[in-house]
Amino acid sequence: MSVFATRIGYADALEIVRRVAVEHRLPTELVAVRRADGRILAQDVVASIDLPPFDNSRMDGFALRHYDLAVEGETHLRLVAEQFAGIALDLVLQPGECARITTGAPLPAGADTVVIKEDASEHDGRVSVPPGVRAGAHLGHAGEDVRTGEVVLNAGSPLSPARASLAAALGIAELEVAQRPTVAVFTTGDELVEPGLPLLPGQIYNSNRELLMGLLRAEGLEPVAWPTLPDDPARMESVLRDAATAFDVVLTCGGVSAGEKDHVPLLLERHGQVHFWKVRMKPGMPVLLGGLDRALFLGLPGNPVSVLATFLALGRPLLDALQGRSEVRARRFARLTTHWDKSNERFEFLRGRLQHGDDGVLGVAPNPADASHRLRAATDSDALVLLEEGRRAYPVGSVVEVIAY
Ligand code: AMP
Ligand code: MG
Repeated sequence: MSVFATRIGYADALEIVRRVAVEHRLPTELVAVRRADGRILAQDVVASIDLPPFDNSRMDGFALRHYDLAVEGETHLRLVAEQFAGIALDLVLQPGECARITTGAPLPAGADTVVIKEDASEHDGRVSVPPGVRAGAHLGHAGEDVRTGEVVLNAGSPLSPARASLAAALGIAELEVAQRPTVAVFTTGDELVEPGLPLLPGQIYNSNRELLMGLLRAEGLEPVAWPTLPDDPARMESVLRDAATAFDVVLTCGGVSAGEKDHVPLLLERHGQVHFWKVRMKPGMPVLLGGLDRALFLGLPGNPVSVLATFLALGRPLLDALQGRSEVRARRFARLTTHWDKSNERFEFLRGRLQHGDDGVLGVAPNPADASHRLRAATDSDALVLLEEGRRAYPVGSVVEVIAY
């Protein structure tokens, strides 16, 4: 494919991202559940025990035989044992007997009902139970939550705290998960200076590095920032090829448009592959997906807002697919709080601020500073607003997709 091929649509770009990522699927590794937060499961999890593992009491009170209770008037039962959580007494309740029991403690054999502490009264080893206690009250049954043999977690889903805790409840200490991709982060441009150093005329501070490192860390990765690359094709080639031998993903920003100093596309075409270059989206049109040596190569444009939009729109799906994530991220929609007229036909990622209306429904206020260098507008906002290709007019109240950042 020539790097000078025509621009593709966003949906096509996403499809290529997913296809290429699948070809580069990362190996799996066995990780302790206590260190596996957010990791993508590479195995189904099958329950090897029931949850709860045994019939138990859901309340603090007295375990009894419902058959013993009088229909009218109080019943007096003999208190014969104390069954606390942690050990199962070898106990069978006989007619007229009851046992003190705590929440989560195993139900003694013979018992079929629990009366809560507050409803009973205890005196001299006898417990008075009022009439009207429901048979089977306050019992938890073995296997009512999970049954042995059930598939409870699926390969391809991220391990949320609730899922990690379910694995723990089943006694599982280690899980097979996808390896985290290693990511080398490059900023490019002769004009860039690191914060903390003096700024000479014509220079700007490197802001994209912080943006990219933060976005990647928010995905649970440990990206590595390489020194900024000068706009020198020979130097770029040698450093990028070096990184590509050692990292799963090489992520660059800048140098990917059509200017005299934009060397990335040609470098990839000569020394690697280009899967796509230029997507019909605003901002971020010159974004490039390629391959260099063993690494996937994602070339983001240099403008800060383009970095944000292309990372969230294409970079994150790439990282998800590399790790075999098949559970789709929840999509969010919001109502525009003002009307918006798109200035062109392109698929657009506008910045906006999320806010809940009086009815609690999510709304989004578009930020009028829509140029791709307006970093301030991106910080005053907290979401990208996705505006469709071809459509221009968005009346107030239109429902639009948003990506919070
Ligand atoms: P480029 O695509 O390299 O022409 O960059 C587009 C615009 O983004 C230019 O104005 C660059 O100065 C700016 N830019 C590129 N990289 C960075 C960076 N790391 N931090 C801040 N601005 C950048
Ligand atoms: Mg540049």
